[in-house]
Amino acid sequence: MGLADVHAHLTSPRLVADEAGILERARAAGVTSIVVNGLNARDNEAVRALAARAPSVKPAYGLYPVDAVLREMHELGVDYPREGELPSAAESVAWVRDHAGEAIAIGEIGLDGHWVPEALWPRQEEVFRELVALALEADLPIIVHTRKRERRCLEILEEMKVTRVNWHCFGGKVNLARALAERGHLLSIPANARRSESFTRMLETLPRDRVLLETDCPYLSPDRARLSEPADVAGTAQYAAELWGVSVAEVTARIEENFARLFRVDA
Ligand SMILES: [Zn+2]
Repeated sequence: MGLADVHAHLTSPRLVADEAGILERARAAGVTSIVVNGLNARDNEAVRALAARAPSVKPAYGLYPVDAVLREMHELGVDYPREGELPSAAESVAWVRDHAGEAIAIGEIGLDGHWVPEALWPRQEEVFRELVALALEADLPIIVHTRKRERRCLEILEEMKVTRVNWHCFGGKVNLARALAERGHLLSIPANARRSESFTRMLETLPRDRVLLETDCPYLSPDRARLSEPADVAGTAQYAAELWGVSVAEVTARIEENFARLFRVDA
């Protein structure tokens, strides 16, 4: 048992070359579970292959809310960089449906109003609902990415009666974060929390049984001079220990318990 990073992108082209080093540093830092989130059918396939060779990697299969409407965005002339031609949303949803039985969660999925123009929000919601329905069918938790669409995400989840939810890198108001926690949802705090007033307040004020840790690696590094990686959740555990006035071992035990409860596995 140990710490869990519930949101990693180890299949990112910026991290793959150092895979062995990253996994070894995570192990040395006490990180025993790394939930690697897929972005689309192509990336999910890479996550699946990684999980087959790295026992600490737990696969989450999803469709990133920007990738869900990327073709439509390009048709509208909106630029969003992705290497190569992506599978269609329908292909990605079908891939998730076919492989949900192997996953620890469905994610990342959600609604993004930052990159995606409003004209495509209805289509994005349609895809989100399909993926949420798959999670319910497979009895799996969901890992939610949302930017500027937090309340709409919540409306849809309430309507669909979803209870097993991890909000990743939550950018909404701290009061809304607390309201989500009251509903039983968990929020994962990224490794740059020390530099973020909002994540610091969440760590201070959320019920401790609603907190998880993540990196979103290679993004949101605690050290701007380098990329983040799963080992960095140890620094966030240290920070939580300082804020909570408890030992790192107590934080670790709390995170293990929260992880096991949401994902129904041992950390
Ligand atoms: Zn992500």
